[in-house]
Amino acid sequence: MHEMALAESMLEIVEAAARKHGATRVSAVRLEIGALSHVAVDALRFCFDAVTRGSLAEGAALDIESTPGEAWCMPCGTAVPLAQVGEPCPRCGNYQLQVTRGEDMRVKDIAID
Ligand SMILES: [Zn+2]
Repeated sequence: MHEMALAESMLEIVEAAARKHGATRVSAVRLEIGALSHVAVDALRFCFDAVTRGSLAEGAALDIESTPGEAWCMPCGTAVPLAQVGEPCPRCGNYQLQVTRGEDMRVKDIAID
């Protein structure tokens, strides 16, 4: 399951950051998820709850922000917004698009006690 692996790597990042700051508990985690990343948010929340059980991030609130997708259109020679991979350029209708933003997920920051 894709989301389980994501939740595990998130926990590693969160735990490393918490240790660095000498924290004993993480109360919230802020995530940025790209609109084109195919991450199922509900599944991710479920997996995060499961992997953090017994860790210092147990019970931490998961605050998820969605970042919009963006692609570079070759014919237009400019960056255009992209709602979904496989869609044409909203300006010229061409499919020669290179996704430049919105495909990844990252931990933006954490709140610690
Ligand atoms: Zn275009």
